[in-house]
Amino acid sequence: MSEAETAGAFLTALRAASPSLTLLTEPADTEAYRFDETEYMHPGQPLGVALPTTTDEVSTILRLASTHRMPVVPRGAGSGLSGGAIAIEGALTVVMTGMNRILEIDAANLVAVVQPGVVNADLGRAVAEEGLFYAPDPASFEWCTIGGNIAENSGGLRCLKYGVTRDWVLGLEVVLADGAVIRTGGKSIKDVAGYDLTALFVGSEGTLGIVTEATLRLIPAPAPKLTLLAFFPTVLAAGDAVVRLTSSGVVPVTLELMDNFTIRAVDDAHDLGLDREAGAMLMIESDAGGEVSVVELDSAETACTAAGASSIVRATDPTEADWLRQARRAAHGALERAGVARAWTTSAFREVGFPSCSRASSASPPSTGCASASSGTQATATCTLLSWSTGTTPPRRSESMLPEHRSMPRRSR
Ligand SMILES: Cc1cc2nc3c(=O)[nH]c(=O)nc-3n(C[C@H](O)[C@H](O)[C@H](O)COP(=O)(O)OP(=O)(O)OC[C@H]3O[C@@H](n4cnc5c(N)ncnc54)[C@H](O)[C@@H]3O)c2cc1C
Repeated sequence: MSEAETAGAFLTALRAASPSLTLLTEPADTEAYRFDETEYMHPGQPLGVALPTTTDEVSTILRLASTHRMPVVPRGAGSGLSGGAIAIEGALTVVMTGMNRILEIDAANLVAVVQPGVVNADLGRAVAEEGLFYAPDPASFEWCTIGGNIAENSGGLRCLKYGVTRDWVLGLEVVLADGAVIRTGGKSIKDVAGYDLTALFVGSEGTLGIVTEATLRLIPAPAPKLTLLAFFPTVLAAGDAVVRLTSSGVVPVTLELMDNFTIRAVDDAHDLGLDREAGAMLMIESDAGGEVSVVELDSAETACTAAGASSIVRATDPTEADWLRQARRAAHGALERAGVARAWTTSAFREVGFPSCSRASSASPPSTGCASASSGTQATATCTLLSWSTGTTPPRRSESMLPEHRSMPRRSR
């Protein structure tokens, strides 16, 4: 049988076995599902796009794909940065956004049971209504899915204190390549006998099976965050502040570093009034609550001052804190505008021999200049890489994404 005949037989069998499954095969319909946010990889033309709404449909897809030896690409919202969701030539893309129900918020046991297509921010809002908290919050949280977060083991702005997605997944329902449906883990934290298959699936980038349900850990909601931005003449000085702060025993919920290029890119894109001459900026937040938060930020301020901060800004209310946070959340989009977030399209990265197109998502793109700054050394390495990749200044932009166009209050030291 030719490749085309095999593909045709597969689609015919799939339509017969699962008549209610939404299956797109026209290129005009499948186009929107070919790319993710990883521009350096060049997608193929998929055989089709399936949008299952039940575990049974996912199981049927994988069973028949296996029988017909057809490759399959699982996909969430397509916000990934490692190319895992881009279309492969002749493969079936399986889009999980239709399975987007929060099945249960079990406040007594501090768990949520969700389908993989639930958007991260929607889960956060739903559990907040119960006074609860789900910590992993990639900067794409308003559109990425829990399934994608699990497959990527995503972090986010809160991962320094609360860990990454793997630390919040207690159990999974997964459909394996042959269509078999398995369950791993469960609601109980002490469900630890045997191999830790849950941990194995988290971060496997869709290569081991398709997640169709997840049991996630929740905690009582922490206090609203207090936020501080500190600007430094150099990245090394910012790294010094990180070392001073972490060695003082304070574990802030957020400790994020941006270098000068990223500061300028964000300021160009959103006109936040950041210190454009600073070599680096640290965003530090505490959610310890009450006086403890104040003490933590006081310690942060002391560490930053001792490391030579040129200016420090502290939010005085939650609205101002949210506004300061935009400086970090806006970084990826701003770097894209500046033409560096998808940095593998630049000659610098091609010259060092990264593959131009491959399913091997372990070949992650280089850093874009934002990092959870857990040590001065790590922060320095990350930002040096960004400077090396670009070496140009982005054009000035005046557009603002903030509800109110405001200028940052400067509190020079
Ligand atoms: C602006 C922006 C900011 C970001 N910020 C962060 C950040 O702060 N921290 C961070 O860690 N990441 C960040 N990311 C990348 C992050 O990994 C993704 O945004 C997110 O986790 C992917 O979710 P998604 O639903 O878009 O998945 P997709 O991009 O669609 O897919 C990602 C991977 O998951 C697999 N997959 C999807 N659903 C399933 C499923 N149900 N079962 C099995 N495999 C599946 C896919 O095959 C693919 O390999 C950012 C991305 C962007 C664009």
